[in-house]
Amino acid sequence: MPRYYTEPVISVLARPVFSEPSHLPVEWMGESTDGERLAEFAGRLCYMSQHNPAKRNTRDYLENIKRQGHGSVLEHATYSLLVEGVSRSLTHELVRHRAGFAYSQLSQRYVDESQASFVVPPAVIGDSALEETWRTQVESAQTQYVALVESLMARYSWVADKVHRRKMAREAARSVLPNATETKIVVTGNVRAWRTMLELRSSEGAEMEIRRMAIAVLRVLQQEAPGFFSDFETYVADDRKDAARVSHHKV
Ligand SMILES: Cc1cc2nc3c(=O)[nH]c(=O)nc-3n(C[C@H](O)[C@H](O)[C@H](O)COP(=O)(O)OP(=O)(O)OC[C@H]3O[C@@H](n4cnc5c(N)ncnc54)[C@H](O)[C@@H]3O)c2cc1C
Repeated sequence: MPRYYTEPVISVLARPVFSEPSHLPVEWMGESTDGERLAEFAGRLCYMSQHNPAKRNTRDYLENIKRQGHGSVLEHATYSLLVEGVSRSLTHELVRHRAGFAYSQLSQRYVDESQASFVVPPAVIGDSALEETWRTQVESAQTQYVALVESLMARYSWVADKVHRRKMAREAARSVLPNATETKIVVTGNVRAWRTMLELRSSEGAEMEIRRMAIAVLRVLQQEAPGFFSDFETYVADDRKDAARVSHHKV
């Protein structure tokens, strides 16, 4: 029986490490993380205001950067996340966010999907009859995938390179797998890019699964660096699902 995901799984793979040059020390104030200090350092360099004339703590300084719309300062800090338990249809939408992002995704040509997991669409969760019907359809598609790989391996048995033969079989057989097939993707983005994507995909207009993922990512990044994401507010929308809104739009 395949594994069924009802939530994405987000892991932080990489975060900034800031190393302050000794000849340009900043008068830091308040609590902050390396990523936040890196952005403040970059912003202060523009005016050589390392002495912190307004006596702002880092998170207030970043709030002001967002208020003023100086988004380029936020591009210095990047975070890499491993996103699992999401569907192929979700990543199809996610990779449309181009500026400031890098992606590496599990290949269905190389990886055997006969043991693949699936992602239950949020609208299906909680109705046992609907879930049962949906599972039957998904499992039937997976059975067809396995049969198709087998037939294609036999059809192309004359291809001497077994790796190439398997790739030929899997790349054709994957066409019968559903959009709900689980995938894994490494996403690296700078803070400006993350903010834009999260604004679009955590809002009520976004597709339910990507919205669920955006909220999960938002919670992780708010823990990582509150100064970059504190102006996002999460709430329960009229459809009874979590959504978020942001005070400073597309900086
Ligand atoms: C609710 C929703 C529904 C959607 N429905 C559909 C749909 O039905 N069909 C569909 O095809 N897509 C759809 N999309 C995807 C949408 O069209 C965008 O591709 C996606 O949101 C990424 O936005 P973006 O291009 O602004 O992002 P990015 O590529 O990350 O760009 C960010 C910003 O950088 C700038 N930029 C990036 N590239 C360029 C460029 N080449 N030239 C000039 N400026 C640039 C722009 O200011 C842009 O807003 C939908 C998105 C949402 C949120």
